[in-house]
Amino acid sequence: FILFFIGFYMAIERTLSIIKPDAVAKNVIGQIVARFEQAGLKVVAARLAQLSRAEAERFYAVHSARPFFKDLVDFMVSGPVFVQVLEGENAIQKNRDLMGATDPKKAEPGTIRADFADSIDANAVHGSDAAETAAVEVAFFFPESQVYSR
Ligand code: GDP
Ligand code: MG
Repeated sequence: FILFFIGFYMAIERTLSIIKPDAVAKNVIGQIVARFEQAGLKVVAARLAQLSRAEAERFYAVHSARPFFKDLVDFMVSGPVFVQVLEGENAIQKNRDLMGATDPKKAEPGTIRADFADSIDANAVHGSDAAETAAVEVAFFFPESQVYSR
């Protein structure tokens, strides 16, 4: 019970991070993961995955009515991705801050997208945007038994 409240105040969260096909192809998985670790986030689950079209469409279902949906799905299945669960204090917002803006041209210098992304399509990383989506996205890739909280 007391541990619950300590956990609450420290806001230890989990978030889903995906290193997208462009960054995997550039061989910068390690450089990107290093940024998460240097910011105090822990990798508590990780694997390479080749998404099927159906999986990519389901993962990005919230965007299915957007004009860029087909391009997004085409891109996400174009090669393997590196999916991870990151854990730490305020992990969701911390990861978003490390990522930078969706459009790398607008991303702050020193962010992952500013440094590794080429375009709004090939923008290096995905990160959950809120607690509700983080829970759904983590469960999309990893059963609880494959997440090693520490
Ligand atoms: P994110 O949370 O920063 O990744 O951005 P969104 O959730 O809004 O969009 C999901 C992904 O769709 C982005 O990472 C981009 O790869 C892509 N995307 C978003 N907006 C656009 C757009 O206006 N044009 C294109 N071509 N792709 C977009
Ligand atoms: Mg998003």
